[in-house]
Order: sequence, then structure tokens, then C-alpha cells
Amino acid sequence: MRIVMLGAPGSGKGTQAKRLEAERGWLQISTGDLLRQAVADRTELGLRAKAAMDAGELVSDDIVLGMIKERLTKPDAGRGFVLDGYPRNAKQAEDLDHVLGELGLKLDAAVLMDVDFDILMKRLTGRRTCSKTGKVLNIYFSPKEEIDECLQAGGELLRRDDDNEETIRNRLEVYKRQTAPLVDHYAARGLLRRVDAEGTVDEVHGRLLAALGL
Ligand code: AMP
Repeated sequence: MRIVMLGAPGSGKGTQAKRLEAERGWLQISTGDLLRQAVADRTELGLRAKAAMDAGELVSDDIVLGMIKERLTKPDAGRGFVLDGYPRNAKQAEDLDHVLGELGLKLDAAVLMDVDFDILMKRLTGRRTCSKTGKVLNIYFSPKEEIDECLQAGGELLRRDDDNEETIRNRLEVYKRQTAPLVDHYAARGLLRRVDAEGTVDEVHGRLLAALGL
């Protein structure tokens, strides 16, 4: 399937997209992950993107479009894909329609991960990534065994640079102003699937599969 994941930062898009990739083989394409990699590698693109990311603002549409085009034209994208964090504004949604049109591809669904604002704050301030396994964990919500598993493997619980309170507030604002209107864009095309994204990862995953008719 070809899916767009919509939802605020912390709504669980990445967690569920990774799970769909592991279970179904559909490629998870996360512009946030690609940008963080570019920053870590100190590429020119990473240097250009860093200030916006640190402030919780959107990186320029051209930069992310270039990344998406490059990823979607690789052969493994033919297996299906889950776009995680793209598009994030009206221009990007138009760009995506254009790129998919050129490739002769159609989206099957746009999933809205629906989560209450207070829970988002806790998910974002508590979010950590295991340095050993890359697994995304949460100091408030993850089972103790999962956290211990990372620590016992010699991993550290790393916090993303932009998961601090000030940047989080701005990212949520940017979401409300620029990304939330895309819900209408996809609803108008009959592609929107709403998922109640509160609860455990397994519960949400079950609802997501049901919403996709799987
Ligand atoms: P994420 O990991 O999806 O929360 O993205 C982290 C940060 O990367 C965002 O706050 C933006 O600064 C940047 N970013 C990720 N995806 C996009 C996008 N589609 N358009 C612009 N900026 C993006």
C-alpha cells in the first residue's frame, strides 16, 4: 500500500510506520529521520536544515521535496511506502501529488493519528531513542522491561535535540497552523482514515490495521 501518515508530533506516526515496514515490507520514509541523518553527517543540506529544526520550524519545501523524490524513485519504493512526516503543508501536498503523478502512482490512504494535546506533551518530553537498537521508547509510558533491555545491551537513552519544551510548543503550533489543514485535503479525496492513537502501541496498531481494512 501507499500511505501518508498525518498527525501532530508525538502522535506515534514513526512508531506505527516502522511497524508497518517490519510487518508488511512497505518502506517507511521519514523526512525527519532523513534530515537528522543529514545533520549528523554534516552535509551541506544538513547544515541548511539545522537552524529550522532546532527552532521547531519547517525546513524549506525544496529541501524536503528533493529528499522525497530521491527516495520514491529508488526501486525498493515499488513495494509500497508509508510517508511519515511528509507532506506538512499545502505546498508539500501539491508537490507530492505532482511527484506521484509523474511516477504514475496513487495513494491508498491518508491516516490521521488522533491524540489529545496533553498526551502529546508527555509523549514528546518523555521520548528517548535507544542508542544501541534505535528503538523509540518513552520514560513515562514504555514498559520497564523495554527500557532495561536497552540499558542492559549497553545502550543509552538519547533525547532528540528538538524534544525540549520550548521547541515542542512551537512544533505543535506549526502543526496546527500548517499541517492540520491537510486533513481536509485528503478527506475531500476520500482518502482520510482517522485512528484513535491513544493507548498502547499494540492497541493503536490494531486500530490502524482495521482503519486500513487489513
Ligand atoms: P519529525 O521527526 O517528523 O518530527 O521532524 C523533525 C523536524 O524536521 C521538524 O520539526 C522539521 O523541522 C523538520 N521536518 C521534518 N519533516 C519535514 C517536512 N516534511 N517539511 C519541513 N520540515 C520537516
